[in-house]
Amino acid sequence: MTRKGERAAAGGLAFACFAALALTPPAVGAQVETAEGADRAEGVRAEAGRADGSAWLEREAFLMGTALRVKARAGSREVAAVAIEAAFDSVDALERRLSSWRDDTALGRLRAEGRSAAGPATLELLENARRWSRRTDGAFDPTLGALVGAWDLRGEGRRPTSADLASARAASGWRCFEVEAGDGDAAGGADEFGEIAARCPGAWIDAGAFGKGAALERAVATLRARGATSGLLDFGGQIAVFGSPPDAPGDWPVSVAHPDRRDEPAVRLALDAGSVATASASERFVVLRDTVRGHVLDPGTGEPVEAWGSVTVHASDPMAADALATALFVMGPEEGLDWAEAREGVAALFLRPGPDGLEIACDAEMSAMMERVRETTSKPETWKGC
Ligand code: ADP
Ligand code: MG
Repeated sequence: MTRKGERAAAGGLAFACFAALALTPPAVGAQVETAEGADRAEGVRAEAGRADGSAWLEREAFLMGTALRVKARAGSREVAAVAIEAAFDSVDALERRLSSWRDDTALGRLRAEGRSAAGPATLELLENARRWSRRTDGAFDPTLGALVGAWDLRGEGRRPTSADLASARAASGWRCFEVEAGDGDAAGGADEFGEIAARCPGAWIDAGAFGKGAALERAVATLRARGATSGLLDFGGQIAVFGSPPDAPGDWPVSVAHPDRRDEPAVRLALDAGSVATASASERFVVLRDTVRGHVLDPGTGEPVEAWGSVTVHASDPMAADALATALFVMGPEEGLDWAEAREGVAALFLRPGPDGLEIACDAEMSAMMERVRETTSKPETWKGC
């Protein structure tokens, strides 16, 4: 298993300092390389005074196992700095509830001990996740921790025996969890507010497909509440934007990487708001009997989805974009396109490498985001609906 974002680059200052804020289009799905364990705020990289007294500031922190890069504009450099610091804190707070990579979080304790106290914010997030499971007919399903373990998706990857696969499937699904809201005081934010318990032995919840999105939602809300008027956030390849970009009012240019060649932009999008997330099998994968499988599991079969390309989803809510990228990756380019086409507020782009080049398919909403920059996109072999 490989994880590109964890390959150490030359520290948090791997990026050069810019004299002025140059907005290079971030590549969706292309991870920002960073040093493991690098601390926040070491990556102050760009700032520019504005004639109107506003200032842009860019900082990077290592959170949720990857780099969170934030560029924000506020009335002054100080306001921007405080807002970004608060945004990092909000993500850190979420990681301390959702991470199942450690034992001292709500989901970590659930994994280790089969039950855990959970605060109202955690329970609300889980309720939200459950809603996306329902809406995607179970294609998005974070209750499959047991399957993540059976396939060793956090390690080198391995094919489980059919008995192990069957028991992991039996320990996956929302029916394996019981949530008790409790009668604590929500205003107090006490972690003792409610409880979440596993009903099936070995069942746990993996926030891998919605944690970064939920964190981006928190970070954007925090930035705005602290006075940031515009911003661009890149969290390990998932992008969120608000307000308007530095030099020209209008849309934010974002490029979507080629599914096989992550450094090569395949399509450019113009975002006016919201978030884009990409799911593919190229960042982290396992090779099983000559087929490349990603780290995304098909909850219907209990098996990792075979690599077919990538899907990029835009939605106003970053958590929805994150969860839906995973769900549409499970559905695949045909069913996924139909699903997105039928949903207002969900734009989807499918990139599928084939013998004749890259096949690009998208729904009408995504097409509108691409049109504005179409002349600058490379000419692919086939366009479907874009
Ligand atoms: P990334 O971590 O690259 O952003 P995704 O957002 O696609 O990737 O999330 C994939 C992760 O979510 C997997 O590593 C696993 O932890 C978990 N997962 C795998 N399959 C599913 C699924 N069908 N629904 C929800 N979570 C999943
Ligand atoms: Mg996801």
